[in-house]
Amino acid sequence: AYISQASSLPPSASPCNYGTELMAPVLFPVGWGIFGAGRGVDFWRSPLSPNLPVDVRVPSCNLQAVKAYLKSHGIPYSVMIDDVQVLIDKEREAMAASRRLERSSSTFSFSSYHTIEEIYDWIDNFASENSNLVSKIQIGQSYEQRPLLVLKFSTGGSNRSAVWIDTGIHSREWITHATGLWTANQIVSEYGKDPVLTSILDTLDIFLEIVTNPDGFAYTHSEDRMWRKTRSINPGSSCSGVDANRNWDSNFGGTGSSDDACSDDYHGPSPHSEVEVKSIVDFVLGHGNIKAWISIHSFSQLLMFPYGYKLELTPDHQELNDLAREAVKVLTTKYGTDGTSIDWAYDNGIKYSFTFELRDTGEHGFMLPASEIIPTAEETWPALLTIIDHARHHPY
Ligand SMILES: [Zn+2]
Repeated sequence: AYISQASSLPPSASPCNYGTELMAPVLFPVGWGIFGAGRGVDFWRSPLSPNLPVDVRVPSCNLQAVKAYLKSHGIPYSVMIDDVQVLIDKEREAMAASRRLERSSSTFSFSSYHTIEEIYDWIDNFASENSNLVSKIQIGQSYEQRPLLVLKFSTGGSNRSAVWIDTGIHSREWITHATGLWTANQIVSEYGKDPVLTSILDTLDIFLEIVTNPDGFAYTHSEDRMWRKTRSINPGSSCSGVDANRNWDSNFGGTGSSDDACSDDYHGPSPHSEVEVKSIVDFVLGHGNIKAWISIHSFSQLLMFPYGYKLELTPDHQELNDLAREAVKVLTTKYGTDGTSIDWAYDNGIKYSFTFELRDTGEHGFMLPASEIIPTAEETWPALLTIIDHARHHPY
């Protein structure tokens, strides 16, 4: 595959940074050691079990070596995306075109991707224009001193039972921020119209953190579209950042996370070391009445629930499994990963804890075209309502 040396390549990016997306069905477990952290191979879909495929982005400079390795080990593969840089360039052009249109018409387009500045402006306007239903709460500051903003949807009451929703904890998963924006707007639009949502909001509060990893998100726009972690400096390492969804105090440091600071799955020096995580922990524990937890990721179109970190079923397994199947008509599975937010939430008494993985199943991966934002958000909405409504009907 040929990697274009596009003029839009960020200044710090070496020509090795982007590459080709491959899918190989049985890379696990041999590939894990060979293609581990710091070798320049980027897992878009990690090895979870021997019968599931993995997706890896291979920098152009390593492509021949990786293909030779796969061939010599008899591992079949297919090319999902020939040149990731082409999609990055297209995405930038689409954003610029949409920005011009939004400025000239003074509207915000939910069907396009936005920068953190644009999203924060939108949050300010949205909260002030809908102050009867929405307030903006700052739960902390990121490592690079950006505000950590949460939207609170409430019709009154005091410390009502509540639902927590977060998007964008992995910064390159742009479809999740975009889905969060659409969902916030949908909540306001549908209150008083949709009977289920109206009943929910008459009983429960909803907290929504759209840019959960703001430093990482800003970095995906300025430097590296494929950045996943926070941006904290790791003492003694030239590699920055921690995987904020491996940083939770739930079997910290186990399977599916790495102790190598250069890995995309680096769990960090200690549980809740990342201020972006600690701020949520403090807020949620301080609130004390969160009853459902929904963490939104991409990609692979899955809905997952605890436990990810052990094979043992939770005492609520049957109910959570039934609810997951009711909420979505896609494959439901568990996930062999430790230190994630839903396991922490469940272990801290939040029974209805779920992780969504939004579109797609790998055709575009993290480079999901903006034309799929609204269809993705629309198909996720009823699943969110199903989970939240179930929590409303099953107080505990
Ligand atoms: Zn993720």
